Amino acid sequence: MSEITSLVRKNILSLKPYSCARDEFKGEAEAYLDANENPLNYPYNRYPDPLQWSVKERIAAIKGVHPGQVFLGNGSDEAIDLVFRVFCEPRQDNVVAIDPTYGMYQVSADINDVEYRKVRLNADYSLDAQRVLDATDVHTKVIFLCSPNNPTANLLNRKEMLKIVEGFTGITVIDEAYIDFSSEPSWLKMLDRYPRLIVLQTFSKAWGLAGVRLGMAFASEEIIGLYNKVKYPYNINVLTQRLVLDELEQVDRKAEWVNMLLKERFRLIELLKQLDMVEEVYPTDANFLLVKVPDANAVYRYLVDKSIIVRNRNTVALCEGCLRITVGVESENELLLKALGEYRA
Ligand SMILES: *Cc1c(COP(=O)(O)O)cnc(C)c1O
Repeated sequence: MSEITSLVRKNILSLKPYSCARDEFKGEAEAYLDANENPLNYPYNRYPDPLQWSVKERIAAIKGVHPGQVFLGNGSDEAIDLVFRVFCEPRQDNVVAIDPTYGMYQVSADINDVEYRKVRLNADYSLDAQRVLDATDVHTKVIFLCSPNNPTANLLNRKEMLKIVEGFTGITVIDEAYIDFSSEPSWLKMLDRYPRLIVLQTFSKAWGLAGVRLGMAFASEEIIGLYNKVKYPYNINVLTQRLVLDELEQVDRKAEWVNMLLKERFRLIELLKQLDMVEEVYPTDANFLLVKVPDANAVYRYLVDKSIIVRNRNTVALCEGCLRITVGVESENELLLKALGEYRA
């Protein structure tokens, strides 16, 4: 048994996956009479490629990985849920995650009836790898790290992360939803060295495609094979596959967007810091800022009244008094700055 196989739920190991028509025949044919589709209304009449090879080949070329190391899901959320469904035996296994972090890990854990163990970040939002490892036991299948982290906005320290990637015998998930906005390299180039590593990225942030719902998981071919076994057969529809193939040709436009947002981020930080009401703007490696104010609930409501919506993180551990503010275009950021400048407690 490989070290990955020994981590997989027994029912998933023995699962005979659904076999669809498009799994059996690949290539071009004169007549497709195999899937009970309507022959009219091309291309929407045809089932999509269940493994999305055209899209994956393009992504793999851009990211410097093999197409077989790529999984595409209905947002990162699908890739997160599949970690539980593949590896975690309900009511028996557990996962460990940093806290605070992205809310979907816990929601997926709860839905799958898997214990979710939180390990507080340090007060400065840095990672203490040893405390994360100390929270694991023989039933811990997965550790979730998010870097840059949401909502704290910072990159986690690479050496600390490495202690987990190397020291933990289960699956380490590193969520890189915001990696395009950070100055550090992705963990993607470490995939070949660490077969139990899963790296998550998404089209929802830098690529400007949150409405399309496409998330990526990168891992060893063995892990991706398990994902493919468990996912819905046609999880990515024809429209999404076509659109994303087009969007992937616009790597330069994405880079321009990121540059513009980084400039705006810098400007926003400087101008926010000049406001009396702003107690702290935390360091950011993402496309958002975590900002501490004297009364986050009041400022949040004040901004809503001015038709400006930010995220109130007041009730989140280590984020008391904080608003999470996404970097917008210049005119939006100006509206925010103007409103905050006029705020009176
Ligand atoms: C926004 C975000 C995602 C993206 O989720 P999608 O389902 O791909 O839209 C993933 N992880 C984190 C930490 C995020 O903040």
